[in-house]
Amino acid sequence: MEAYEKINRLYYLIQNNVAEKLPGPYRVGVDLGTADVVLVVTDADGNPVAGSMRWASVVKDGLVVDFSGATTIVEELKKEVELVLGIELDKGATAIPPGTVGRNALACGHVIAGAGLEPVCQIDEPVAAAKALNISHGIVVDIGGGTTGIAVLKNGELVLTADEPTGGTHVSLVIAGAYKITFEQAEELKKEPANHRRIMPVIIPVIEKMATIVKNMLAGHDEYDEYPVYVVGGTAYLTGFGDEFGKAFGREVNVPPHPLLVTPLGIAMYG
Ligand code: ATP
Repeated sequence: MEAYEKINRLYYLIQNNVAEKLPGPYRVGVDLGTADVVLVVTDADGNPVAGSMRWASVVKDGLVVDFSGATTIVEELKKEVELVLGIELDKGATAIPPGTVGRNALACGHVIAGAGLEPVCQIDEPVAAAKALNISHGIVVDIGGGTTGIAVLKNGELVLTADEPTGGTHVSLVIAGAYKITFEQAEELKKEPANHRRIMPVIIPVIEKMATIVKNMLAGHDEYDEYPVYVVGGTAYLTGFGDEFGKAFGREVNVPPHPLLVTPLGIAMYG
């Protein structure tokens, strides 16, 4: 299956709460994000088998802030997926934003262990996204809820990663301020595609800031000027996001389907 086909398939499986009948052994990945938690199961070739997700704020800027809440959600997602798959999951991979260190870096592993999944490895989020996109040469920009991260791959090798606060949360804060609504209302308004055209002028400064962050991360690296750029993460769902980001960044960018599911799919591939 091609990378974009896999992402579309995973979306279908999650939306319909069904499993793909593919032979094991399976790989499991858990993405503990700022805005949501996603559990994905793939076969040995990285084809999606099942998945489940929940909107939740148990992580902030890559740091687990609600340990027991996060554990409970992973337990629930694990049970849901086990039910549609008819088998028990015992191990899984996790991911963290690049640059997360010390106890913070260990927290995701502890969460999934608490939920009954032995942590097998932990990778950088944009690296997972690159794996899902099957890229060996290019720049992956991951704009999630809390942070903007990049991974640069050269001949299959990771040559640069970086991560900075500013993500979809900041987009919602700006919307909340502009329309005088709560953060939660802004999140809902933002996730409705029918509103995207109306909110775009309000959020362009945040998108420009994200592009500036990425430009700064790549400053002094002219050798990557010709690399293809892929933007993933839930924020890239915004209609016109790729165009506005590309304009501010000064380069054309590719936005895969269901950008929120790219990193979770890649994490499972490492599981
Ligand atoms: P991080 O990687 O920063 O820890 P995360 O893993 O939660 O965060 P993602 O799941 O990639 O990040 O994306 C979550 C963000 O995407 C949230 O800010 C959410 O509001 C936004 N988002 C989700 N769906 C949509 C949508 N349909 N339109 C616009 N924004 C969306």
